Amino acid sequence: MDAFICTTCGTQYPPAAKPPPSCPICEDERQYVPPSGQGWTTQDKLAVTHVNGWHQYEPGIIGVATQPRFAIGQRAVLLRTAHGNVLWDCISMLDEATVSLVKALGGVQAMAISHPHFYTAMNEWGEAFDVDVHVHADDRDWIMRSGPRIRLWEGETLRLTADATLIRGGGHFAGSSMLHWAGGAGGGGIVCCSDTAYVAADRAHVTFMRSYPNLLPLPAERVRAIANALAPFNFDKMFGNFFESVIEKGAKQAFDRSVERYLAAIADH
Ligand SMILES: [Zn+2]
Ligand SMILES: [Zn+2]
Repeated sequence: MDAFICTTCGTQYPPAAKPPPSCPICEDERQYVPPSGQGWTTQDKLAVTHVNGWHQYEPGIIGVATQPRFAIGQRAVLLRTAHGNVLWDCISMLDEATVSLVKALGGVQAMAISHPHFYTAMNEWGEAFDVDVHVHADDRDWIMRSGPRIRLWEGETLRLTADATLIRGGGHFAGSSMLHWAGGAGGGGIVCCSDTAYVAADRAHVTFMRSYPNLLPLPAERVRAIANALAPFNFDKMFGNFFESVIEKGAKQAFDRSVERYLAAIADH
């Protein structure tokens, strides 16, 4: 039996003789079903037409995304920290080359996912690298394929390793999380913000949305909550969801400026 994967959002479902009738992640108002209708694929089919591509942002920070672009275009990132390798977020395709390469880099010692749009094939990644997958408990209802590797965490922060911390910002999803690595950017710190805060095309600002494809903004109090969650953390770089979405320096100031800009934009005039 195949574990079918939604071609629009990349979510993998439990093994079954035929695909599910629909994809609840795509039926949600934050996603969409394309005009061509609901589509499904499998790891075996993906491996015929796609490969995983790698981008080293700097020594110790390596992004991986499926090429040509698949589903939402998700990109995971492997952080090679002094306290072990951390895999942040996940992608649907897991081929033998990816397993070999990541194991050659030391494997994965800790893994966490920002929100349901990146759950993808998290069970298979957790199994392949013999690591637990941390997911915020507030989003548990969006887990379409449960498994023994999934660890639900609660509250506002979770120390993942000695210098990597998960931060719940909420907003986009109730459990939407970010990853702070204190040792990143030469000790200046980095934040991987995923869809909790979204690195804008100018790579100098972030924005905040309930839905990015359907253009639903977040209310002010939710954005203030994300800002409050990040306030205690220092960081110089910010990594969004795609290879090119990086704020290279001064990211904390850019983030603070972006919050002010956003709140001004949605204020009553
Ligand atoms: Zn879907
Ligand atoms: Zn999302």
